[in-house]
Amino acid sequence: MNSTQQALPRLIERLPPGRVMQDAAFGVAFESDGLTAFHQKPLAVVIPETTEEVVTTVRWCHEAKIPFVARGSGTSLSGGSLPIAGGIVIALNRLKKILSLDPVNRTAVVQPGVVNIKVTQAALQHGLYFAPDPSSQTVCTIGGNVAFNSGGAHCLKYGMTSNHVTGMKVVLANGECVEFGSDSTDAIGPDYPGLFCGSEGLFGIATEITLRLLPKPEKFHTVLVGYRTLQAAGDAVSAVIESGLLPGAMEIMDALSIEAAEAAVNCGYPKGCAAVLIVELEGPRERVEYETEQLRTIIARTDPFAEHIATTEAERLSIWKGRKCVFSAVGHISPDFLVQDGVVPRNRLGEALVHIQEISRDSGIRVANVFHAGDGNLHPMILYDGNVAGEFHRAEEVCSRIIKMCIDMGGSITGEHGVGMEKRDFLPDMFDAATIELFHRIRGAFDPQEVANRGKMFPAADAPSLSMSGLHPLEKQGVISRE
Ligand SMILES: Cc1cc2nc3c(=O)[nH]c(=O)nc-3n(C[C@H](O)[C@H](O)[C@H](O)COP(=O)(O)OP(=O)(O)OC[C@H]3O[C@@H](n4cnc5c(N)ncnc54)[C@H](O)[C@@H]3O)c2cc1C
Repeated sequence: MNSTQQALPRLIERLPPGRVMQDAAFGVAFESDGLTAFHQKPLAVVIPETTEEVVTTVRWCHEAKIPFVARGSGTSLSGGSLPIAGGIVIALNRLKKILSLDPVNRTAVVQPGVVNIKVTQAALQHGLYFAPDPSSQTVCTIGGNVAFNSGGAHCLKYGMTSNHVTGMKVVLANGECVEFGSDSTDAIGPDYPGLFCGSEGLFGIATEITLRLLPKPEKFHTVLVGYRTLQAAGDAVSAVIESGLLPGAMEIMDALSIEAAEAAVNCGYPKGCAAVLIVELEGPRERVEYETEQLRTIIARTDPFAEHIATTEAERLSIWKGRKCVFSAVGHISPDFLVQDGVVPRNRLGEALVHIQEISRDSGIRVANVFHAGDGNLHPMILYDGNVAGEFHRAEEVCSRIIKMCIDMGGSITGEHGVGMEKRDFLPDMFDAATIELFHRIRGAFDPQEVANRGKMFPAADAPSLSMSGLHPLEKQGVISRE
């Protein structure tokens, strides 16, 4: 029995019965997140029901120097919620109450395990909604959204999660409970909630989060435009942005993504196009009507192959259904896939797409593209068959080349899915040594022992990398595997 196992009874004593799960079969569900290529058995899974229980658990981790990973729904695509060897998972799903909803001040205070869509569902009766809408919004939690500063289709206009969080209660990595921000945007001092957003679980655990709610738009105008080439769709995005219009959302899907969506939900997109662009205008009725005319003129100049304007809410939802299902639909066209999350300056979108097609041709690995085009945020899906020897490695190389392309073009290694385990090796390609050292010092101020989500985000000598070939050092030690 190792020292962690010996320490565990002391945690079990301090918590109410049934909070600590050690059953191996139960733990299987927590072994990996959305990046299933990596998995790691946790020592135990703790399921707290109150902030106090989170404090007790984290304090025990701090005292016993046992690493922990906070987990919402485990939909991270970058290995962010992958367990740490010898550590515990703190699963926050039972902290799922909307503690208050104030329609006058347009705020809601929620626990971290609340699923994203539930906030909008609760707010809609007051004519309000929560703007950040990841495609995983029916599953992912607000705690995960905060830690990854998640985005979604409508973040082009409204910003990422950090733009919608004004305050939070946080259990720091030493078990202290502190409050950041306030219930309005006028807090004193630096933007501490902003600092916590995107910190990938390295500072501690958010247990209460104050969210801004927005009034539901009075009118939507949703258009689906088909193009003969992917580059034409990318260039159309630049044309819309250059015109000064700021749509609520602008999303592109290429032919492979369309094929997958059609196979899964039969969304009725126009046949024969190389890509579709979805543009959604939203806001006060008069403004949307005025912008609709502008948009019509711009689209007409982009040589569209087909155009469909939603005339009813059902048609609008049907357009979005195709887009929102793509990740889960890819299983219809490929046994396995990796999703990347790079960013390029949006005026270079067309060029980036051509380059991705070249990489795909070169490697013989198919790449399906779906992305938040208005943000320049690419989500190439690298399709492979894990049963074919060497294909996984070739798929990793394609991921690596795409990420390097994003950096070379002046973009970023992640738009919204975090760095996690997956991309920590690329951090030095984007930031200089002094900047990474500063990141370390900030992390050290919150968690000098590095018990919170150890091994994530920062490059390390043992970093797994999508640019490596052969077995990863942790795989050689039997710590992780990618069966
Ligand atoms: C099909 C699919 C579609 C997706 N689409 C999008 C998209 O459009 N936009 C987007 O941004 N992402 C998207 N994602 C990625 C993912 O859903 C988001 O990153 C989401 O925010 C993760 O939430 P979660 O509850 O699953 O978090 P988890 O995966 O459980 O955790 C993610 C990270 O947050 C940390 N964490 C969790 N809770 C807390 C807490 N309370 N305090 C501190 N740290 C915490 C974890 O340690 C981990 O580092 C998608 C994923 C899938 C599978």
